[in-house]
Amino acid sequence: MKSLPLPKFTVREVLDVCVSGVRDRSHALRLASVMPAVEAAEGEYLRLGLQARLFEVEQTPDVAGVISSLEMSKLYKGNLARKGSRSRRFYDRLKMAAPGDICPLCNQRVVKTLDHYLPKADYPSLAVTPLNLVPACSDCNKDKLDRNAASAAEQTLHPYFDAVDDAVWLVAEIQESSPPAAVFAVRAPASWDATKRRRVETHFLAFGLGVLYAAQSGAELVSIRYALAEVAECGGADAVRAFLNQQARSRAMVSRNSWSAALYSALSASQWFCSEGFLELG
Ligand SMILES: [Zn+2]
Repeated sequence: MKSLPLPKFTVREVLDVCVSGVRDRSHALRLASVMPAVEAAEGEYLRLGLQARLFEVEQTPDVAGVISSLEMSKLYKGNLARKGSRSRRFYDRLKMAAPGDICPLCNQRVVKTLDHYLPKADYPSLAVTPLNLVPACSDCNKDKLDRNAASAAEQTLHPYFDAVDDAVWLVAEIQESSPPAAVFAVRAPASWDATKRRRVETHFLAFGLGVLYAAQSGAELVSIRYALAEVAECGGADAVRAFLNQQARSRAMVSRNSWSAALYSALSASQWFCSEGFLELG
């Protein structure tokens, strides 16, 4: 998970522009009338988000008894997310906040959409709230669909509020098989509190990161087999280890909890892989 800065605009700005794009005058007035309710929900979201307690936000069937969940969902899809709409610029700004267009949730795939951290069907007051809209790839968006946490530990990580790159928590283990494979796991530092440790695990499982990273690693291992053979020819196992170590450091400098940093770190630490395992790559 990669952290992102908080969005620089508020739900008031977004809702104002969304409402200005609604042709039905009475519907526009009804939408405008819930501004205080969605602003209050935004304030509560910020307060709880900063304390990692968003699971405490209450689900509601509508917004202030005036706008239904379905109407808010339509406002999101038909205004904010619709290409060519007046409010689409907010959607695009949120989407473009992810560096390199890489999904902050899996730190691997390309951003395609915005994910409602708290689902709009259950939290209609937050359907167009910037703080609740996180750039995501299609798979992460689908994997998390309608998933509601019942406790602090069950919450996935939130790019606007959580920071988990202060320590290494993603590790890999090399399977001594033919071909060699990498198995990924979470090993959070003991210095973190229990909730933060469990949330990283929740996030890892909810988005299927173990499977995703294993697949990426498989392709990576195949792509370096000739390079490793050349390195080994010149300097044996020590040279292979030095090469893998350098790769691990280089990748960790960019993103210390990337699958590639974890992979190369595990490869360089495997005596078996450095001396003979790399020959099993095919
Ligand atoms: Zn993703």
